[in-house]
Amino acid sequence: MILSVKEIIDATSGKLLSGDINSTISGISTDSRTIKEGELFIPLKGENFNGEMFVEDALKIGSASLTESVNNVGRYNKPVIFVDNTKEALHKIAKYYREKFQIPFIAVTGSNGKTTTKDMIYDVLSMKYNVLKTQGNFNNEIGLPLTIFRLNKKHDMAIVEMGMSGFGEIRRLKNIADPNVAVYTNIGVAHIEKLGSRENILKAKSELVENFKEGYTVILNADDDMLVKLTNKKGPQYITYGIDNGDVKAFDIEYKEESVKYKVIIDGYMMDVELNVPGKHNVYNSLAAICIGIKFGVNKEDMRKALAEFQPSAMRLNILDVSGIKVINDAYNANPGSMKAALSVLKEYKDRRKVAVLGNMLELGEYSDLAHEEVGKYVKDENIDVLITVGEFASKIAEGAIKSGMDVENVMICKNNVEAYEKIKKIMRNNDVFLIKGSRGMKMEEIVKFLQESA
Ligand code: ATP
Ligand code: MG
Repeated sequence: MILSVKEIIDATSGKLLSGDINSTISGISTDSRTIKEGELFIPLKGENFNGEMFVEDALKIGSASLTESVNNVGRYNKPVIFVDNTKEALHKIAKYYREKFQIPFIAVTGSNGKTTTKDMIYDVLSMKYNVLKTQGNFNNEIGLPLTIFRLNKKHDMAIVEMGMSGFGEIRRLKNIADPNVAVYTNIGVAHIEKLGSRENILKAKSELVENFKEGYTVILNADDDMLVKLTNKKGPQYITYGIDNGDVKAFDIEYKEESVKYKVIIDGYMMDVELNVPGKHNVYNSLAAICIGIKFGVNKEDMRKALAEFQPSAMRLNILDVSGIKVINDAYNANPGSMKAALSVLKEYKDRRKVAVLGNMLELGEYSDLAHEEVGKYVKDENIDVLITVGEFASKIAEGAIKSGMDVENVMICKNNVEAYEKIKKIMRNNDVFLIKGSRGMKMEEIVKFLQESA
């Protein structure tokens, strides 16, 4: 990446406070601790820090900086550019830089499975192309621009993840990345209508395609009753996938404990897919990747190979063998939809006692109780043998399970991880399978660690 200071000034409508307008920068950094020579420092404001305080430090190694402070005029001998808002400037520079590349840009959004789907798509496309992808979960208004700055001339295409928690966020990300292919995983959960917000989630997610016209492509899960509404708009090409519905349909699905197999017809020929990861949700995630493979002409054998070798990211349904027991580490995060997906995976362990250790699902607001109770009902319906809940909200999962008829003796309520250790120690038996899952704030990976140390 090479941008001149002049380009940065033009892109941000900024003002040069010091330094040479003709000098260039070779990268962007928002962290003064890791900035490298040649990079432009963009000081951002976080909850606990103000990047502006580190401009001086950043300039010791970095080659230029943005600033919101006019006091910096003439203070340094390197280029320092004044802008009204550094975060907006970050977006503007990313947008400007992105426009230099006339390549397909794929954006993945949805309530669940974005990272997994994005990674599967990347693996499929990488069989034929040099692809840039969002690393990890860098799916917000900081992560997306930083991803875009990693673009270079060698890339044939880019795939980026877009997350959101309210109206306007996806639009902002879309305006930066200007994608021409949108991939939708799903919207909310089956019963969230009761919560009255799936319509709104769809509305917010549809900001991604509001400018889509002829030449653009939308790929979506046709089994999702909300997503199918997006196909009403004329103009873009739609490719849909699913198990019950869709252009690209999985059939003869065989669910196994740690993998899943299915068949799919592509251009009149059958393809056998075998995934190294379990669950119905991964059938959907991989179908999205197949749609992209079809769109971009990846041959079937390459697609099959890429999907067979797919490895999930850390803490997303990672299955661990721990002396005599199995631990499914899904501690990365949780919401009602992903809880259900994980419980469906746990259910497949027919020959083991199934223990679900479930923590709070956060950020559900006024719908929290109902959502937790519903997960409890699901625990019972999936015939999970033992339920251990962790945290105040999660106690409603226990309530829901008991209300649905789960034996009280097999339901344990814990206030925190430490209490859960005690309960687990008491009940743990050889051959058990444990699912560990809760929202990020619950740090459920500590329980995984406990199991690894004490099993
Ligand atoms: P985030 O919003 O945190 O970025 P994400 O949408 O990127 O999440 P992933 O990280 O791919 O989702 O998966 C997180 C968890 O969600 C998985 O470990 C699994 O439990 C569940 N999950 C994955 N794919 C799906 C899916 N298609 N439907 C429902 N649940 C899923
Ligand atoms: Mg993600």
